[in-house]
Amino acid sequence: GVSGRIGYRNNGDEISRLSSLFNEMMDELERSFNRQRQFIEDASHEFRTPIAIIEGHLKLLNRWGKNDPAVQEESIAAAIEEIVRLRKLSDQLLDLSEETQYPNQTDSEPIDPERIAIELIRNYRMLYPQFTIEAKLTKGLHINVDGHHLHQLLIILLDNAIRYSAKNHYVKISILDVGEHVQLSVEDKGIGIDKKDIPFVFDRFFRVDKGRGRNEGGSGLGLSIAKRLTEKYGGEIRVESNVGLGTKVTLVFPLL
Ligand code: ADP
Repeated sequence: GVSGRIGYRNNGDEISRLSSLFNEMMDELERSFNRQRQFIEDASHEFRTPIAIIEGHLKLLNRWGKNDPAVQEESIAAAIEEIVRLRKLSDQLLDLSEETQYPNQTDSEPIDPERIAIELIRNYRMLYPQFTIEAKLTKGLHINVDGHHLHQLLIILLDNAIRYSAKNHYVKISILDVGEHVQLSVEDKGIGIDKKDIPFVFDRFFRVDKGRGRNEGGSGLGLSIAKRLTEKYGGEIRVESNVGLGTKVTLVFPLL
């Protein structure tokens, strides 16, 4: 870790104040180093599994694939799936680091979130015909969020709503005018999130159920990216959920 603290006797003089300030700064620096190290460890861990799976399948193909079409088919499909996962993961990591590096670039044109929602709903209905995708959208509200970022935010919420709703194929998206704010929410009737897990869903790489989350294609990064993006525009993100009943994620932005 970061070593070196100043030992001092607190006499309330200038030297003790400076020493105490120095020690506090070193503590903060150490916490920040630890967070970085944890982040790198977590990220490497997320990369390691897909890479190992791809390696395994390529070895299988190399050994048996030439004469066995079944091995070819299965191994190629599995490798492609893992490569898609790696691509998403690296995109998401890039998003996170861009948000960290440029936290306050919010000089965007006001947009009407309804336009973006309409387009997304059309695409999701096409992609997931088995889902009932309900919409309750208020038109003509304007918020100060970059259109590309709002698109990205809604995709994170919609993908989760769909991913964690294996049984009850229902998603509702709404845009409401609430006083000085616009509320955008995505609601599902899926598996829900346990009360004890809700505080952690915005942590990087957090998944309620490590194994299952991975099978659903999750990396545990979506909501941490969503939180950063939302807060960048002065907004707030909230999660309400009940196990077995469903989840509602709400974004609140100042109305222009
Ligand atoms: P992931 O990519 O794993 O979905 P997120 O950061 O988007 O990562 O979400 C963190 C975790 O919160 C998920 O792994 C999942 O366990 C839980 N979660 C998120 N959205 C929902 C939802 N709509 N329904 C149930 N669980 C959810």
